[in-house]
Amino acid sequence: MGNGLIIVNTGNGKGKTTAALGLGLRAAGHGMKVLMLQFIKGTWLTGELCAVKRLEPNFKIVQLGQGFVKTLKREQSEEAIENAQISWDYAKQEIFSDLYDTVILDELNNMIDYGLLNVDDVISVLKERPKRLNVILTGRNAHDKIIELADMVTEMQEIKHPYKKGIKAQKGIEF
Ligand code: ATP
Ligand code: MG
Repeated sequence: MGNGLIIVNTGNGKGKTTAALGLGLRAAGHGMKVLMLQFIKGTWLTGELCAVKRLEPNFKIVQLGQGFVKTLKREQSEEAIENAQISWDYAKQEIFSDLYDTVILDELNNMIDYGLLNVDDVISVLKERPKRLNVILTGRNAHDKIIELADMVTEMQEIKHPYKKGIKAQKGIEF
């Protein structure tokens, strides 16, 4: 088998992570093996974490993030960079294990954007991955080099978001 795709969900609108989960659900339904690695850990226990537990071993979510806060690129601490590298090493191990049909690297675009991971390192892993493996990268500000390499790129564009009206994050919508 070959022909795995590189898929990117980027943009400032909502739906990047949830669209990736949708593809994961679709693949898992066919008995394919899906792994989602979350690089930036939220503060909520998300519904998808609980729902996907019921789909193991076909669909698994692993939270790698250390919960660091977004800062300006130049201000990333040594610790954040080190943590990012540990997470990335784990991701590489899983990618090259050849156990999966689809690996979702959730918020990896942000990790590159924040200067926590080197884009060329990511590109070389994507190029050398098992040929059948689909890789989905999510997160705002996808790097130009990632966009160039990808087979499919979708930009979520915000038209309206309830946050602007002061509506707080809701169960089943945001987490
Ligand atoms: P989702 O996980 O709902 O698919 P996302 O992956 O596109 O959203 P992220 O940039 O990862 O969005 O943001 C994570 C959180 O911020 C989510 O809870 C999401 O609902 C919320 N969010 C996304 N877009 C916006 C926005 N334009 N304004 C305010 N909050 C947003
Ligand atoms: Mg997201």
